[in-house]
Amino acid sequence: MAVVLDLLRNDQRPRHPEKAHRPDQPIQRKPDWIRVKAPGSAGWAETRAIVKEHGLVTVCEEAGCPNIGECWEKKHATFMIMGDTCTRACAFCNVRTGLPQGLDAREPDNVADSVAKLGLHHVVITSVDRDDLADGGAEHFAQTIRAIRARSPATTIEILTPDFLRKDGALEVVVAARPDVFNHNLETVPGNYLTVRPGARYFHSVRLLQRVKELDPTIFTKSGIMVGLGEERNEVVQLMDDLRSADVDFLTVGQYLQPTKKHHEVVRFMPPDEFKSLETTAYSKGFLLVSATPLTRSSHHAGEDFSRLKAARVARLAHSANA
Ligand code: SF4
Repeated sequence: MAVVLDLLRNDQRPRHPEKAHRPDQPIQRKPDWIRVKAPGSAGWAETRAIVKEHGLVTVCEEAGCPNIGECWEKKHATFMIMGDTCTRACAFCNVRTGLPQGLDAREPDNVADSVAKLGLHHVVITSVDRDDLADGGAEHFAQTIRAIRARSPATTIEILTPDFLRKDGALEVVVAARPDVFNHNLETVPGNYLTVRPGARYFHSVRLLQRVKELDPTIFTKSGIMVGLGEERNEVVQLMDDLRSADVDFLTVGQYLQPTKKHHEVVRFMPPDEFKSLETTAYSKGFLLVSATPLTRSSHHAGEDFSRLKAARVARLAHSANA
């Protein structure tokens, strides 16, 4: 599926013009422990119909997520707002790059309608990077949160945001809309940033997460990385410390999968027992919740994880009170 996504889609523009000149990186065969449910069930088709009916974009499709068969069967889709074209050009990401179109003012209500139709208890909203907008899309995020709240007051809302680099005041606008979970992914260790996430700054991202907690300590914060991009274990452990110093609650760690031959190579497939070891180390650092498996993605099982996150906070507060 990922290779298909590399081809020209709705028009004749290349999906990744900035990657076209790169040498091919052969796509390695996946190991036995990476097995996913194929899309095609009735639930998957129903989710797909609602997404299409509302003209929505999902990161599930745009990123070629391997979990789409499982998630969409359960009506769990992650909506990607502000278009399908990103202003960054990360080496791992399959979302189209280029100059995006203007914002769709109806999108917040369209997303809210879809959330209501799907009957979601917990929704994850993400977006492309919009460096072209003065506020990086912060107000659009806030409008979408408010529209969902108005339509589905019982639905909990998780957002996965860009870094709002050089967008003063943007983060404050999003936090003021009071999402239940604020997720911003570090994606990889700092030593990889120049090659993997060249438009971003590692410590800016760490600081963004820290600032969310300073602005509103009731919001859960979450961040994730991919492994298999050439990082060393000690770099991952240092990253955990960086996130804990920013008081981040929830860490996700998943295997990087190469979308096309023009994307970053998979340096290594990490075996499941090493994921388990990272999970143990992360819990020892004080995260409230850790998900570390080959197929972990930021939004995978996000609803169940939100319940576990709340329970973990209550347990920790009770423990502190009794200490
Ligand atoms: S893990 Fe997230 S991005 Fe992937 S299919 Fe599930 S909801 Fe979509």
